[in-house]
Amino acid sequence: MPDENDVFDVIVIGAGPAGETAAARAVRNGLTAAVIERRRAGGECHYYGCIPSKALLWPMELAAEVSRMPGVELRGPIDPVPVLERRDRFVDHQDDAPQVRAIEGFPATFFRGQGRLAGPSRVEVAANGNSRTLTARHAVILATGSDPWVPGVPGLREARPWTNREATDVHHVPKRLVVLGGGPVGCEMAQALHALGAEETTVLTDGERLLPRHEPFAGDLVAKSFRESGINVRTGFLAARVERPIEGGPVTVHAEDGSQYEADEMLVATGRRANAGDIGLGTVTPESSGPVPEGPVQVDASMRATSVPGGWLYAIGDVNGRNLLTHMGKYQARVCADAIAARARGLSEDGPELRDTADDIGAPQVIFTDPQVCAVGRTEAVARANGVNVRAVEYDMASVIGAALQADGYTGRVKAVVDEDRRTLVGLTLVGPAVVDHLHAATIAVTAQVPLDQLWEAVPVFPTASEFWLKLLEAYGL
Ligand SMILES: Cc1cc2nc3c(=O)[nH]c(=O)nc-3n(C[C@H](O)[C@H](O)[C@H](O)COP(=O)(O)OP(=O)(O)OC[C@H]3O[C@@H](n4cnc5c(N)ncnc54)[C@H](O)[C@@H]3O)c2cc1C
Repeated sequence: MPDENDVFDVIVIGAGPAGETAAARAVRNGLTAAVIERRRAGGECHYYGCIPSKALLWPMELAAEVSRMPGVELRGPIDPVPVLERRDRFVDHQDDAPQVRAIEGFPATFFRGQGRLAGPSRVEVAANGNSRTLTARHAVILATGSDPWVPGVPGLREARPWTNREATDVHHVPKRLVVLGGGPVGCEMAQALHALGAEETTVLTDGERLLPRHEPFAGDLVAKSFRESGINVRTGFLAARVERPIEGGPVTVHAEDGSQYEADEMLVATGRRANAGDIGLGTVTPESSGPVPEGPVQVDASMRATSVPGGWLYAIGDVNGRNLLTHMGKYQARVCADAIAARARGLSEDGPELRDTADDIGAPQVIFTDPQVCAVGRTEAVARANGVNVRAVEYDMASVIGAALQADGYTGRVKAVVDEDRRTLVGLTLVGPAVVDHLHAATIAVTAQVPLDQLWEAVPVFPTASEFWLKLLEAYGL
């Protein structure tokens, strides 16, 4: 019989935003919860992701806004010292005591250590050479997140490049920076570090354009802004090898076409790898199912791991690979904790509120570059590939008087993807300064499938940039 102190209704492995939210919601639902964390409670988001990256980016954005307003001037370039100090405050100086206190205040029981499945409903926690085994009455939730993925380019790992962790925790900004990867993390960190003193910044991507998962104009407008502000962008770059003969010295990346870039530091932002490899999935997957598949843990709509029988194992956040975004991990956590509570009470787990629908609709996302890139739902290409009867309309944001008033030389674009059969929006992408303010309205329109005729009745205020709604609907034919 397990020690009663080691038995909980729900055991959560990983105290990032997804794990913390799941534990809080489970407790709110009247269940007891344990949370296991091997590094710092708060996860990637708090120390090396959303929070520090945005703390580094806002000053750049503010400065860019000011530069577009005649008569308002900055006294000089951004001073990195107060910016980095402010970043340090927001990440609690890398001390997770406040996060642990918050978890204990739910109240949940916090364990520091490496969590590993040790058979059905059992989790071993190992720390400092000791281990103990916890038992879950109702569920174990994997919320182990993801790690940066570094490709196997010869010499790259030996060159000890930065990942998002060193970049967001920067204390000395390198003068020359080369960024491998043109996705959201590469673009955001390139622009933040350039503004903070990386005078010679180059973004290298193997794709045709930056931000390849977004509407094509998004990457094009960001690349244009990068070039105008002095950030070098090279597309179609296939890295062949990397050299750093002296540790801490200059690093050179060579392309397959013979070109090369030298820098003081190199940031690799080429994607993420789900933390699913060393969490003991083999101890709970039937042998008849064959080897445990690599990659993210596959889940159903209530976040139950599909390869594990018994319905007691769930996976939320980055580890299930659905949408690698904090708000989506937290949403999945709420779905999953409510489903577990329903099941614990002997109720059906299949109610519509106990299913993840938002991930399939298309998660809202912001890339906090200048210009900002905001998107929700599906791109035109994805909607077409999904068989939707699509019509897309676009509008130049600079022609909206409310937007033009915000900045001289305002550059931006908006695109709506309409399901012609239902006359509803299935996707919207907005690019421009400060467009983030409009994303939630778009998220509601897409999620609630508001008919276009009804959107027409939601009159946008003059003179604000939100009049793009009116312009889009007129362009559509309303
Ligand atoms: C530079 C950057 C900027 C980003 N900006 C944004 C943004 O602006 N907005 C946004 O929504 N998203 C952003 N993201 C993504 C966001 O950070 C992730 O989607 C989010 O952190 C995922 O949360 P999670 O709880 O699933 O995992 P994580 O935050 O990765 O947390 C998982 C936790 O589990 C722990 N763990 C792992 N294995 C074990 C184990 N075996 N035992 C015990 N503990 C374990 C880890 O130590 C970690 O603390 C950004 C990411 C990066 C890299």
